[in-house]
Parts: sequence; C-alpha cells; structure tokens
Amino acid sequence: MIPNAFEYLTPKTLPEAISMLQQYGDEAKILSGGHSLIPMMKLRFATPEYLIDINDIPGLEYLKEEGGFLKIGALTREVALEESDLITNNYPILLDTAKMIADPQVRNLATIGGNLAHGDAANDHPATMLALNASIVITGPQGERTVGIDDFFEGLYATALRANDILTEIKIPIPTTSSAGAYQKLERKVGDYATAGAAVQVTVENGIITAVGIGLTNVNAIPMRAARSEEMLVGNAISDEIIAQAAQAASEDCNPSGDLRGDEEYKRAMVAVLVKRTLKIALERAQS
Ligand SMILES: Cc1cc2nc3c(=O)[nH]c(=O)nc-3n(C[C@H](O)[C@H](O)[C@H](O)COP(=O)(O)OP(=O)(O)OC[C@H]3O[C@@H](n4cnc5c(N)ncnc54)[C@H](O)[C@@H]3O)c2cc1C
Repeated sequence: MIPNAFEYLTPKTLPEAISMLQQYGDEAKILSGGHSLIPMMKLRFATPEYLIDINDIPGLEYLKEEGGFLKIGALTREVALEESDLITNNYPILLDTAKMIADPQVRNLATIGGNLAHGDAANDHPATMLALNASIVITGPQGERTVGIDDFFEGLYATALRANDILTEIKIPIPTTSSAGAYQKLERKVGDYATAGAAVQVTVENGIITAVGIGLTNVNAIPMRAARSEEMLVGNAISDEIIAQAAQAASEDCNPSGDLRGDEEYKRAMVAVLVKRTLKIALERAQS
C-alpha cells in the first residue's frame, strides 16, 4: 500500500531536528533506517504528516570504547556491528544479535537506535541491551539525559522517549575478560522476527557465576529481564542443575501470547530451551 502524503524534512543538526519536533508535535516522526516506520506507514498504522530524516546529521554513527563504555551512535547500522573487529572480538552477543536480524538488505539500513526507539518486544536488540545492562542517551530540548535500560521500555511501543526527544547513543559497560555473552532466537524461517529469543551476558570467576544478565525477546508485552533466573544463578558454581532451574524460571515468568508463531505453551517451552542453550554458549565463551 502507499503511505499517506507527508512532508519530508532533512535537518543538518540535532538542535534543528529537535526544534522541528517541537514545531510539529504529534504530527512528526523521526526517520532513521525506515525499516519499521515505512512498513507501518504503508499499512497506515502510522500516518505522520512530517518525516524528520536524521540521516544527514553528522556524528551519530560510531562504535567506540571510551570511559569504560562501549558507545554506539544511534544511527549505527546493523551491518556495522557485523563488520566490526571490536564487536567480533569483544562483544559476541552483539554480533549474534545483528546477524539474526532480518536479511542483509534490511541490516544495511536499519539502525540500532531505531531498533530500540521503536519499543517493539519482537525486536532483537532490546533483550540484548537488557542482558548487557546498557544505558540509553536521549537528547531533548533540555539537553542530554541517560536512562537505564530497565527504565527505558515502558509499554507496547512505548519508551522513555518523550515527544521532542531523540535517542542519540547506547552505552554498554565494557565487560571484564571473564565475561561473555550470546544471543539465540527461534525463527520460523531465516529473517523472521523471533518466536522467542534469549540474550545472556555472564561473568565467571573461578567457576562461580558472579554476574549475569538475561533478556527475553517476544514473550512479554515489553522486552523482559528474566530477573528470577539471574538471581538463581549469581553466586553459584556452574552446573547443569542450576542452568536447568534458571531456564525453567524464565519459562514460568514470561508472558507469551499465542499467535501464528505458536501457542503460549509452545513458546514457554522454547524459552526454557533457548535460555539453557544461550547460557551454555555464554558460559563456554566466558571461560575460553
Ligand atoms: C523484512 C523485515 C524484517 C525484519 N526483521 C527483524 C528482526 O528479525 N529483528 C529485529 O530486531 N528487527 C527486524 N526488523 C526491523 C528492523 O530491524 C528495523 O529497521 C528496526 O527495528 C528499526 O530501525 P530503523 O532504523 O529502521 O528505524 P525506523 O523505522 O526509522 O524508526 C522506527 C521507529 O523509531 C523511531 N526512531 C528511529 N530512530 C530514532 C531515534 N534516533 N530517536 C528517536 N526515535 C527514533 C521512529 O520515529 C519510528 O517510530 C525487520 C524489518 C523488516 C523490514
């Protein structure tokens, strides 16, 4: 279908983009990669009168370690994660995630900022950012503020981004050498959204799990942290039993809805399988 008519705006600076948001209010939408927004416009689920394309604003596309954080500019494309040596060597969870998103055509344009700003529990980065304890940097009329990932997702397609805000950066604490992560998702076919997904970042010291983050994809109305599973694991030695218990807890605590990808019972069962599998991969990576 063809979207409604709209004005196409191309600000060259962040203040200019923010003042456009202030001017046009609810009638305006930010455009990044366009791979969530444009399909919604074609289906007329979104009918913005003004599209504010931020792709001409310099300085929003980067991957760098600085001040104890991996910093990712909001306009960084999925393909940049796939092609980065830093990500390949030090952040396997991000590489796993990027590779499982859609297809190369989508990944060439889709941005990490857009993936998070969309606030869709079916997207893959939210769970990964929960596992990594990321923070989201937001720039608005009053300047910059940082929101922890646990406070970022507020509801169905609703985030801590307010009317005149732009997501500008994602900050991830640099993991220690005894920490590693993984992301696994079950999809009906390559490129599909997850039936269910699990992201795990784990730290292991002398055989003991000292920290763990677990995020789940598409099994709750908003991206979900498997908090009880995390609590079960921390402070324990690695064992099949504790991994099975944590996987079972995630399966009990999630809230999947039945749809074309499967019914609730099936999705809960898949969460148990995926948490177990992802934890094992992350643990192996952390110890190698
Ligand atoms: C065929 C297909 C398959 C896909 N499969 C997957 C998949 O398996 N997994 C997955 O995770 N995703 C998938 N996607 C979604 C894709 O990754 C999206 O592009 C991504 O979720 C949104 O990023 P974007 O840059 O395209 O954002 P856009 O579509 O440009 O924007 C999405 C929303 O976020 C807002 N927004 C964007 N950037 C900002 C910003 N910096 N600040 C404030 N608001 C902003 C927009 O106004 C809009 O409401 C798929 C898309 C397609 C078309």
